[in-house]
Amino acid sequence: MTHPRGICDHDTCDTRTPGHQVHWIQARNSAKDPGPLVDVLLSSHDVRDDGRIALHVLGPTRGVPATLWTHDPGRLRGLLREHRGLAQWQPRWNLLRLRRDTVATTLVCVAPDAEPAAPGR
Ligand SMILES: [Zn+2]
Repeated sequence: MTHPRGICDHDTCDTRTPGHQVHWIQARNSAKDPGPLVDVLLSSHDVRDDGRIALHVLGPTRGVPATLWTHDPGRLRGLLREHRGLAQWQPRWNLLRLRRDTVATTLVCVAPDAEPAAPGR
């Protein structure tokens, strides 16, 4: 499936647009030149069946969308069930960084959702 907002299976997806697969250059550059990092609280309950991810931002919310999107909600839920602590959203690279331990970080490619944050959030 190559529709930009289609739900697909992470293991067979070959799409590189935001929300789909992480490209190795994207991963490498995101470590070299990270840009802003936004701390977010995420649990598997924040991931909806359509791939939308509700963001709970710690700190200023200006410029932060209410939701992000990923192509394989089941996989992200599984990762978040294993995950402890904060995640980081890296808007410059369309990545969520889930730190697994002191050395390993899982990168999940996410797209900003078009809906603006609801007032009062
Ligand atoms: Zn995909």
